[in-house]
Amino acid sequence: MKWQGRRKSSNVKRGGPKGGGVALGGGGVIILLIMYLLFGKVPADVLPNQATQGGQQNQEYTQTAEEKELDEFLSVVLADTEDYWKEIFSQYGQTYREPSLNIYSDSINTGCGLASSNVGPFYCPNDERIYIDLSFYHDLKNEYGAEGDFALAYVLAHEVGHHVQKQLGTLQEVYKLREQMSEADFNKYMVRLELQADYYAGVFAHYTQENGYLEKGDFQEAMDAAAGVGDDRIQEKAWGQVIPDKFTHGTSEQRMKWFNRGYEYGDLDHGDTFSGDI
Ligand SMILES: [Zn+2]
Repeated sequence: MKWQGRRKSSNVKRGGPKGGGVALGGGGVIILLIMYLLFGKVPADVLPNQATQGGQQNQEYTQTAEEKELDEFLSVVLADTEDYWKEIFSQYGQTYREPSLNIYSDSINTGCGLASSNVGPFYCPNDERIYIDLSFYHDLKNEYGAEGDFALAYVLAHEVGHHVQKQLGTLQEVYKLREQMSEADFNKYMVRLELQADYYAGVFAHYTQENGYLEKGDFQEAMDAAAGVGDDRIQEKAWGQVIPDKFTHGTSEQRMKWFNRGYEYGDLDHGDTFSGDI
């Protein structure tokens, strides 16, 4: 992706939020722990919306040269997502609220509880922040077989997709269902939620292409990432078998399909993953 010398988002924070007020919430810790136990590192996830209180201040950290470059790259990607979501929201008469990106190392206190880099990048709806440990870039390559900058861009665009879902109320609608059904049934909705975030990541690729920032191989890098983080592939690796009732993100094929669809249409209208076949 062509990113050097382009606008960087001002919504990027390194280390943790300043001034405290961010929480070590029990619930969030447990959820993160469960996700970790189930999936090992869970890339591209979204945490349940729950209030947490109290808390510690997060630490600043010093970045390596490679991390500095990844930081800059993600700042440009985030700026792009701001530009196109602002544009798309205004087409629907709405105002887009920009999320923040928190780049951290090892562990961090978030509005959804204490997170360690083991859980992979995620979006916390409570504080509307995306959290990423840059070491995930290597995990993408080594554990999920997805190389290149655009694989990482896909991951960030997917998390921004969850923020869009929060603004549109989709996230809240789905979380409400959690109390009303079995885990296996709820997981089916989670899959649809995740596939929609993949569609929104595809919208990002569409925008990048339209503006001439997409380079040869970029699209494939994102498709590899979407395939690499499919539930079936992750489960196969972790457990040696695939258990569809435990799917929360969709298969590799589904994730590639919805990403590709977002790339094709680049709008909100074709991203309904909740009705019909996925
Ligand atoms: Zn997700």
